[in-house]
Amino acid sequence: MNIAFFGAEGKVGRALVPVLERAGHTVRGIEIGDAVDVAGLDACVDFTTPDAAAENTRAALEQGVSCVVGTTGWDPQPLDAVARERGVTLFVAPNFSIGAVLMMRFAAEAAAFFPRAEIIELHNEAKKDAPSGTAAATAKLIGNDPQVHSVRLPGLVAHQEVIFGGEGQLLTIRHDTTARESFADGVLLALAKLPELPPGLTVGLDALL
Ligand code: NAP
Repeated sequence: MNIAFFGAEGKVGRALVPVLERAGHTVRGIEIGDAVDVAGLDACVDFTTPDAAAENTRAALEQGVSCVVGTTGWDPQPLDAVARERGVTLFVAPNFSIGAVLMMRFAAEAAAFFPRAEIIELHNEAKKDAPSGTAAATAKLIGNDPQVHSVRLPGLVAHQEVIFGGEGQLLTIRHDTTARESFADGVLLALAKLPELPPGLTVGLDALL
C-alpha cells in the first residue's frame, strides 16, 4: 500500500516505519508544517498528538483516504460522519499491541467475578495524556468506574496492571510493552483489514481479532 505516516519522526513512528516498509508498504512521512496532501494514497497512519490527530485525520478523510490512528487522548466520534460521507474508514485503537488487547479482554472476563478493581498504567514521562487511552478503554470495559493511577517516569515504555480484589484474594493481570515495535503487528493487521471494514469509525483492535 502507499501510505502517509503522520508523526514518522516520533518515537512510535521511528520504530514502525521500517517495519511497515519491510512488510512491503511504501511510506511517506508527514511532519508538523508539511501540507496534508494525501489524495490518491491507500491509507494514512497517525501517531502524533491529540490536536494534530484530529486535524490530520479530518484532512485525510475529506480527501477520501482511510486512516489508521494510534494517537490517544482525542475523541474521533465527530469524524464518523465525515468518513461515512466519503465512504472511507477511520480505524482508531487505543492500543495496537496484541498482548495488551488480550490483557483488556481477560480483565473484562475477570470483572464479572470480582467486586472491585483498580488500574495502574505506567508510561514514559514524555507521554502527554493521562490516563492512557488503554486505561480509559479498560475502565469502560470492566465497568463500575475503577480508580486509574497514572505513573510517568523515565525508563518506562507502556505497562498496565489491572488488580482485582475479592474476599481473601487478589488477581493481577499485567501487560508490559518493552519496545515500540510491539505496535507494528496491530498496525499491519489494521491496514490489511481496512478494505473489509464498513465506512465510518471502528474502534479497537479487538474488532479485528
Ligand atoms: P512523540 O514521540 O511525541 O511523536 C509524535 C510525533 O508527531 C512527533 O514527531 C511530532 O513532531 C509529530 N507531530 C506533532 N504534530 C504533528 C502534525 N500536525 N503533523 C505531523 N506530525 C506531527 O510521541 P509517540 O510516543 O510517538 O506517541 C504518539 C502518539 O501515539 C501519542 O498520542 C501516544 O499516546 C500514542 N501511542 C499510541 C499507541 C497505540 O498502540 N495506540 C502506542 C504508543 C503511543 P514534533 O516532535 O516536531 O512535535
